Amino acid sequence: MAGAFAFKGCQKIRGAQIRVLLEAKDFFLFDCDGVIWHGENAITGAAKVVNALIRRGKNVVFVTNNSTRPRENYVNKFTRLGFTDVMLDQIFSSSYCSALYLRDVVKVRGQVFVIGCEGLRRELLEAGIPCVEEDDDPDATIYNCALAPDVKAVLVGHDDKLTFLKLAKASCYLRDPECLFLATDNDPWHPLSGGRILPGSGSLTAALEVASGRKATVIGKPSRFMFECISSQFSGVDPAQCLMVGDRLETDMLFGSNCGLDTMLTLTGVSQIEEAQEYRSSDLTTNHSYVPDYVVDTIADFLPAFEEIEEQND
Ligand SMILES: [Mg+2]
Repeated sequence: MAGAFAFKGCQKIRGAQIRVLLEAKDFFLFDCDGVIWHGENAITGAAKVVNALIRRGKNVVFVTNNSTRPRENYVNKFTRLGFTDVMLDQIFSSSYCSALYLRDVVKVRGQVFVIGCEGLRRELLEAGIPCVEEDDDPDATIYNCALAPDVKAVLVGHDDKLTFLKLAKASCYLRDPECLFLATDNDPWHPLSGGRILPGSGSLTAALEVASGRKATVIGKPSRFMFECISSQFSGVDPAQCLMVGDRLETDMLFGSNCGLDTMLTLTGVSQIEEAQEYRSSDLTTNHSYVPDYVVDTIADFLPAFEEIEEQND
């Protein structure tokens, strides 16, 4: 096997090298934004690649730190964008994995205070986890608002309706050392078009970490937990047979490396190959975990490899 992967090591691969890799791996983990789509636009050729992998009997799952929508919405989005074979059980979002963590790992007893969008609350409620109702009147302040008595966890995700009151309440709940402190993900920011950015969950979590003097447990990439969720739901997942494909070195590549998976950077998103090369030449060995094993311009680079495989099988 090692001989077949002589091309491994933070370099662009193409043609026959991609074919060898696609044939060798059984399990493909894709990040979504920047890899599969940009917002509402699919990356050209991505649907063909995903559909072809699934039709060839490969396992394909999607691992996304986006906690804003429930998994059903992902299935609808995949279908809308031409990914015809994607099912609910292939989607591992940080909101879904947070719900599994609360229900199955820590078995939370009591309510969860959520900073996040409706999709995050929906995933928790579907898993049977009660969330504190957001029913403050518009004049409520931290001086006069009600605090729920049985909050056993604070969960922070992306929240585009974040208020000072929510941060203040979360800070109060976190004074109880028994109250868990979780973050769906630690993404610092997200790109928008026109050079603008959105602050990510990581920036909201950082505010609460300072206020509470505590460190949040991160559920999404690069934490290993998402891979544990996948392994618990698909039998016989062997890290050596997996390929993690993503566009961000600090989340996707580190996640793959934390889980013992081969990693591939696609250059359709946040990170550039030069940043990967800088990490590779860094004296700090911890920086080497951000370095992808393989690099492609886009996952559409897989398409010629499928054609070659087909020709060989004819
Ligand atoms: Mg991404």
